[in-house]
Amino acid sequence: MKCYVCAKNGKETDAVAICIVCGMGLCMEHVIREDVDIWEGGYPFPARKSRKKLPRILCPECYAVYNK
Ligand SMILES: [Zn+2]
Ligand SMILES: [Zn+2]
Repeated sequence: MKCYVCAKNGKETDAVAICIVCGMGLCMEHVIREDVDIWEGGYPFPARKSRKKLPRILCPECYAVYNK
């Protein structure tokens, strides 16, 4: 698969990851990897932050939507 963002710019770069939201291929330059905190716990305990992080892969477009 090729990087979608690069393809739009007329370049051909092999994709190294895929956006989990829209599924477009992304090269190292365009991939956005963000670690999301997982909150665990529930009634009767208040939510506490766990040390686990959930990595997610986003493209620049989806990242912009999620971080408005
Ligand atoms: Zn690219
Ligand atoms: Zn996307």
